[in-house]
Amino acid sequence: MNTENKIPTFEEIQKDIERLKQKYGDRMDVKFGISHPGTQQDKRKEEPTTDKALELHFDYKPKDIKAYLDRYVIKQDSAKKALSIAICDHYNHVMECERNPKVRDEEYTKQNIIMIGPTGVGKTYLIRTLAKLIGVPFVKADATKFSETGYVGGNVEDLVRDLVTQANGDLRLAQYGIIYLDEVDKIATPSNIIGRDVSGRGVQMGLLKLMEETEVDLRATYDITSQMQAVMEFQQKGKVEKQIVNTRHILFIVSGAFNGLKDIIKKRLNQSRMGFSAEIQSKKNEADYFQSVTSKDFVEFGFEPEFIGRLPVHVVCQELSVDDLYQILKHSEDSIIKQYENSFRAYGIDALFSDEGLRHIAEKAYEEHTGARGLVTVCERILREFKYELPSSSVRQFVVTDDVIENPVNELQKLLQEPDYNKKLVIQEQIRRYEVGFFSKHGITIKFDSDAMSSITEQAMNNGVTPQQICDDILRSYEHGLNLIKKNTGQDDFILTQEVIENPDKVLERWIRDSYSQKSKG
Ligand code: ADP
Repeated sequence: MNTENKIPTFEEIQKDIERLKQKYGDRMDVKFGISHPGTQQDKRKEEPTTDKALELHFDYKPKDIKAYLDRYVIKQDSAKKALSIAICDHYNHVMECERNPKVRDEEYTKQNIIMIGPTGVGKTYLIRTLAKLIGVPFVKADATKFSETGYVGGNVEDLVRDLVTQANGDLRLAQYGIIYLDEVDKIATPSNIIGRDVSGRGVQMGLLKLMEETEVDLRATYDITSQMQAVMEFQQKGKVEKQIVNTRHILFIVSGAFNGLKDIIKKRLNQSRMGFSAEIQSKKNEADYFQSVTSKDFVEFGFEPEFIGRLPVHVVCQELSVDDLYQILKHSEDSIIKQYENSFRAYGIDALFSDEGLRHIAEKAYEEHTGARGLVTVCERILREFKYELPSSSVRQFVVTDDVIENPVNELQKLLQEPDYNKKLVIQEQIRRYEVGFFSKHGITIKFDSDAMSSITEQAMNNGVTPQQICDDILRSYEHGLNLIKKNTGQDDFILTQEVIENPDKVLERWIRDSYSQKSKG
């Protein structure tokens, strides 16, 4: 009997599923559900998507986008600029197409992006932050997962289906989404390496199709659940409604570390008859070379010319220095330090990260060679025991000092056993913060020397007053007085000694007198 065109019965499908389960065991998971017409689920799916209002409101300028990225992502200036421009071009074009369907796409090259940079320097973070700003769904995957043979369901089209999931089933919004593929360098297939896995080329071709324009059926042919649902739908309604996502406006961003690419660029620059030796000499680090990358270099690296041709925007991310890591801790709006502060605050504990402590974390993280990821590794290593012990102790404030970073176990014991030791550290940190606050308020740097610091600490511990109150009291006239001195001599940096603590007004008067005589001497 010819069964090819016959719709299988429910029992037949169930038997088939049993057979498949026996064959594939745990590698297969089948969820089987019948959708009834008229339910919420069906109503949502039946909604026509074409006559919906525009989902996307995009009216940013490149500088707005860069300014937003600056709040979160430290360094990577040229990458932020290039991305801001590409994102504006892309979404302005999308908006134009949406407003005016007659806009001709053939004349437009989609601003798909290829990003170069080592691990942990903010590539994903940049794109995730952009997607959040614009309000479009974002999907990230590793390109390597598609080249593994036998990967169940490892189809590049799944990326598009994932976008729909991220967009909570909103097909229109999914069509404006961003697909981010990391480790794309692993699917390059250099011609000079014999026996190299050729599946990378296949993956490139699959991606190429998506990047150009294709329609992806939300029901994957290998996804038994969706196929079953299609069968059910057919049985119930006599037809199957296709749900299609068009990839025309999906932005593709691929990235990788591209080890070896630098040598290709260097070789090309060397070979150039124009004599680029000066250009080569001026390039001090990897990123400098990468800034000169051309599509030809990528082809030599092992990408198909058509594939690389679809990625016209080249973006380079730099390695992060110790200072960059410190800046991330200190200034990024999403800094992991805030996460730590929050997790301690949940137990009513104030974790005060000292400036020296932050620098020390940055130094240790740098040694991990994993970019900013090292910051999490280091903080976890140092603070895990604190997170475990302190919530059940009486400690309600503590400082992450240089010593804590260097010797966390010892310092934790001291905090737990010597309440005064901890109290002293907290007060000292509060004085440091007072100095910083004075600078932000008045633009003048003050620094208590170690004697002055001890003296304020002692007063605060003995008299039960806060260091802020003590400092406010001592420096009552200093805002005005120091500004006067600054005007007379230009000095904006002052060391405050024990003498200042003991006799603030007398010292200030002397300083002011001196500043006038210095001024008159010219
Ligand atoms: P990759 O370059 O490998 O994609 P990520 O962007 O995933 O690295 O970085 C990991 C984490 O490190 C980010 O989630 C972010 O918290 C932090 N990070 C990395 N680079 C930066 C940066 N330049 N500025 C601020 N935070 C960063």
